[in-house]
Amino acid sequence: MAYRTEHTFATPVEVEPGILRLTLPLPTGPRHVHCYLLRGDDGWMLVDTGLGLMETPWDEILAQLDGPVVQIFITHMHPDHVGGAEAAAAATGAPVAQGRLDYAQCERVWGSDDWPEEIAEWFLRHGVPPEVADELIESGHVFADFVRFAWNPTLVDPGDEIDGWRIHATPGHADGHLVLQRGDLLIAGDTLLTPITPAIGLYPQSRPDPLGDYMDSLRLVSELAPRISYGGHGEPVAEPVVRCAAIVAHHEQRLDRTEAALGSVPRSGYDVSHDLFGNALAPIQRRFAVAETLSHLERLVVLGRAGRIEDDLTVAYTGQLAGGRPPL
Ligand SMILES: [Zn+2]
Repeated sequence: MAYRTEHTFATPVEVEPGILRLTLPLPTGPRHVHCYLLRGDDGWMLVDTGLGLMETPWDEILAQLDGPVVQIFITHMHPDHVGGAEAAAAATGAPVAQGRLDYAQCERVWGSDDWPEEIAEWFLRHGVPPEVADELIESGHVFADFVRFAWNPTLVDPGDEIDGWRIHATPGHADGHLVLQRGDLLIAGDTLLTPITPAIGLYPQSRPDPLGDYMDSLRLVSELAPRISYGGHGEPVAEPVVRCAAIVAHHEQRLDRTEAALGSVPRSGYDVSHDLFGNALAPIQRRFAVAETLSHLERLVVLGRAGRIEDDLTVAYTGQLAGGRPPL
């Protein structure tokens, strides 16, 4: 993925009056994540914190600011956003605010030792071969080392205000994802990105229809109609309403392709993921591909365009006409 902007890591860059973008490196994926610093009455509010890597030079970063960081806000509990929260809180002394639902999931996933096993077992039910599931357990434990979230944050809810910014819920990319809006500006986390589209995956213990949630969230963003939206990766979104429509169209196309992959013979999410994302994926990428495939399959079930067949060991999907009905 080529980006137009070359990022200078760990140097806050002003993108709007009173809004600084702070880009931190990632070892994988888009290779960078954007945090933001929002000027308030008493100092700066830091939105998102990168990974919990030892290299994040918080002291150097803070020395470049003209005032203290007095608040930290987390958009969602994915590693690249919440993983550095403990270190950022220690460096700034600022309290951390996180969504109520988001923190509950954060604690469940990153605060316990057994999550990689639970997610691996869940993937097995969805047809992932044991050797791939085993690799997921291993990579899950490795990743967990970089997630140092802040325990017992201030819990916030949609509709609250923080430092003059309104908090909105935008479930989809993560169940408890929150964005910040003030006037015609949106700090969007991973709800609205360009040029990549946010991953929308189904995971254990998550809301049942994340893609449906996400479509609603894009509708909300369109109604808010910000002038510009600043996301966690890639470029600022200069025409947020247009971008929302493009992402909706992207998922509608993928829904059509997913539906076309289904017939009367039940297929697992793992199986269908090969139709959508090809055969050549490393285990960690396959994990996202399966989760994304499942969010589309579950959306099709909700829409009455697919059937789900499950027993204690497996979950599989059929086309609409075959779903749950005896063969004629
Ligand atoms: Zn992210």
